[in-house]
Amino acid sequence: MTCRELTDFIADYLSGETPPDSRREFECHLKICPNCVTYLRGYQETMRLGRSAFDDEAATVPDTVPDELVEAVLSARSKSNAG
Ligand SMILES: [Zn+2]
Repeated sequence: MTCRELTDFIADYLSGETPPDSRREFECHLKICPNCVTYLRGYQETMRLGRSAFDDEAATVPDTVPDELVEAVLSARSKSNAG
């Protein structure tokens, strides 16, 4: 798995709907790539902030969050919005 594949995979990984083989690849990459560990942490933090931000229309996403992360959160959110 490459860094790019990993970032594409994060939303699926966090949704828990991924096959064990894919999860293993994901976790293997995290073991060898501190950058992706940092990215994953940032992603999870953004999800957490995003949830409260979207619940409150007046809230804004912090300027420190990269646009691409916000996009990822929004697309993950629309995908898992069924429930
Ligand atoms: Zn990586």
